[in-house]
Amino acid sequence: MTKKIQLSSTIICPECGFKKEETMPTDSCQFFYECTNCGKILKPKVDDCCVYCSYGSVNVPGSMAIAIGSLVDDAIIYVENIYKQLRKNVVLPPEEKNPLLPWFTGHLLK
Ligand SMILES: [Zn+2]
Repeated sequence: MTKKIQLSSTIICPECGFKKEETMPTDSCQFFYECTNCGKILKPKVDDCCVYCSYGSVNVPGSMAIAIGSLVDDAIIYVENIYKQLRKNVVLPPEEKNPLLPWFTGHLLK
């Protein structure tokens, strides 16, 4: 991943009203946030994915959704390639599957 997106959001503590600008993580959602003023641990509200959705001044913007989307796409392509290789191996006749394996087992089990 070469993409680096810096996103900041101001978290407003529901307990004391303290505001602090924080950088949102782009690789994951932040579930917990400790208020630097009163020390209260904030948790996301029921329907929200992270504390920035619940208490941040900005909602998770579209650019972050795109960043996550491309990450997921890369992962899917990677997994599909592995499956492709595995399927190829399954259709091969047994003697072509792994030429070294019978040699090893034949010599080591003597
Ligand atoms: Zn607070």
